[in-house]
Amino acid sequence: MKTVHGHIPRKRFGQNFLHDPGIVARILAAVDARPGQRLVEIGPGLGAITLPLLRACGRLEAVELDRDLIPRLVEQARGVGELVIHHGDVLDFDFAALAGSGEKLRLVGNLPYNISTPLLFHLLAQAHAIADMHFMLQKEVVERMAAGPGEEAYSRLSVMVQYRCRVQPLFLIRPGAFNPPPKVDSAFVRLLPHPRPPVAVADETRFAQVVQLAFGQRRKTLRNSLKGLLESSAIAACGIDPGARPQTLSLPQFAALANAIG
Ligand code: SAM
Repeated sequence: MKTVHGHIPRKRFGQNFLHDPGIVARILAAVDARPGQRLVEIGPGLGAITLPLLRACGRLEAVELDRDLIPRLVEQARGVGELVIHHGDVLDFDFAALAGSGEKLRLVGNLPYNISTPLLFHLLAQAHAIADMHFMLQKEVVERMAAGPGEEAYSRLSVMVQYRCRVQPLFLIRPGAFNPPPKVDSAFVRLLPHPRPPVAVADETRFAQVVQLAFGQRRKTLRNSLKGLLESSAIAACGIDPGARPQTLSLPQFAALANAIG
């Protein structure tokens, strides 16, 4: 197994380390970190973005699961700035508690692709504590986050992310920018949590349930996938064809369906 700076990359931790200085510079420019801001990096790894971020803002917190990487990060940060590392699984990390009643957090990360969907849902639930997010993800995941009704990539993730955030895909990255190279293309994306959701939803759990059920079987019509929750007549009363498929529905239409459940 090839090592990267003396470390054997762990596949189970989704370790693909960024080594292209041009991409690091583009990430830094997109994030535009300033002293005093509350930056938190997810998965600092060998420090490719950590150190430049620390130089830019003087203080940085990071969440890293791989214990073996922590001593070298601490060592690298010496004399550069204050690096606070939280050892643990980001899927259990309470960002809202970290933000407390202070300034909202700015999250940055070249994310472990193997947990990207659960991680995005974990973060969306805490979006009220987050100022913005800049993430490297698998290109297809960014396409799904940004897609609109009628597009091939439009999915549950599109609706749930867009309910919470404005999505700005920024640039693509080829596998060769990483060591080891992943099998997929990557994309860098900015997520800006809405101050208020763009549509009124009476019960967010219901909304999430409707979206999940509707996209659970994409080929099924709403009449079938929402059986038990909403009668055809109730779907039609929202101005939506019960014979429609989920890929054609807008965010306000999903909200209308959720709000129609008695
Ligand atoms: N930021 C580094 C870079 O750009 O080179 C590393 C990126 S690598 C794709 C993902 C990083 O996330 C690794 O450092 C890995 O150990 C860490 N990681 C994986 N799963 C994690 C989890 N559940 N919680 C926190 N960190 C995790």
